[in-house]
Amino acid sequence: MLCYNIDKDCRPHGAAVVESAQNGRSFCPAALPPETVWALFQETDERKCFVMDEALLKQALEFGKPYTGKGEVASYIPELSKADGRELGICVRTIGGEEYHCGYWQRRFTIQSISKVINLAMALEHYGFDAVFHKTKMEPSGASFNAMSRISDNEDIPFNPLVNSGAIAIVELLLPLGLDHMLSSVRGLCSDKYITMDEDVFKSEWSHSARNRSLAYLLQSKGLIDGNVDETLLLYTQLCSLSVTAESLSNLGQVLANGGVQPETGRRLLKEEVVRTTLTMMLTCGMYDGSGEFAVRVGLPSKSGVGGGILSVVPGGMGIGVYGPSLDSKGNSAAGQKVLEYISRTEKLHILDRYTRHPVSTSETF
Ligand code: GLN
Repeated sequence: MLCYNIDKDCRPHGAAVVESAQNGRSFCPAALPPETVWALFQETDERKCFVMDEALLKQALEFGKPYTGKGEVASYIPELSKADGRELGICVRTIGGEEYHCGYWQRRFTIQSISKVINLAMALEHYGFDAVFHKTKMEPSGASFNAMSRISDNEDIPFNPLVNSGAIAIVELLLPLGLDHMLSSVRGLCSDKYITMDEDVFKSEWSHSARNRSLAYLLQSKGLIDGNVDETLLLYTQLCSLSVTAESLSNLGQVLANGGVQPETGRRLLKEEVVRTTLTMMLTCGMYDGSGEFAVRVGLPSKSGVGGGILSVVPGGMGIGVYGPSLDSKGNSAAGQKVLEYISRTEKLHILDRYTRHPVSTSETF
């Protein structure tokens, strides 16, 4: 018997416990559910389990802290420049229901672009795959989050739903649902009834939204926004201004990690295929023009926001929320990425690690 979800003393608890009939090296990963593959992989390695506890999170934050000095808080939305760039926090929620946290895990900050994950999932859920991917492609853009260049050619539609242009196009689909419905869905997905719109951040962004406004008008000129540009932009900006914590993000990640079902209640919040598509977009496009390197270093479907948050998902395992408002040049949390890299490398959480027979060296410089 091997257990997938274990505490630091390797006691089984929470999620799946799997039989280890095939013992190691002759299994065919593609034919087995991820939990089983993962457990078997762990067995082939010297370490028989992954450990998740607060000591690990503390080490990860210590590792990440120096990187807070390598970035800057966002200032193009003036209100965001009030954040303290030295802060760093993390919260983990396993699908077995355990929670681990450290640092500024309860600090409220605005969700910003991580809302694009929820918007995409809600649009897929309510309007379907074709309606969504009529408006955007599914390709990494290789450009900054608010780039105009990639959609200015006549034939082009936005690269993906997780860059601003694509997200604004998708939000138009959500207009019939409205802010109240979206807010209660966000609260439900994040298991956080205290999420509200941060009026100060909203006003600050709304009065500095020339760039997004230009994108929205460009989308209208291409027929990708049919209705009211102002209404679409308003909802987009309101949804970026919702205040969350690292804990709320970890709860959202937990639902995504569990295929759309909230483990605590057993309620299905998202269809399985919606989660699959959303996670794929996160993996390939979630960190903007840093998505490729992040995929190599961390290897988890993730989404960043200029408020300093990163949502990461270990499919079949756990949701992770990180807060660190000091951003690198691409708008991703500088230290947050390093915290995730530390955890992923140490516990072999990269989604391809489950197919790697030999332990990944942790002696290299991260
Ligand atoms: N609200 C921000 C914007 O539209 C979101 C960008 C981000 O988090 N990368 O510019």
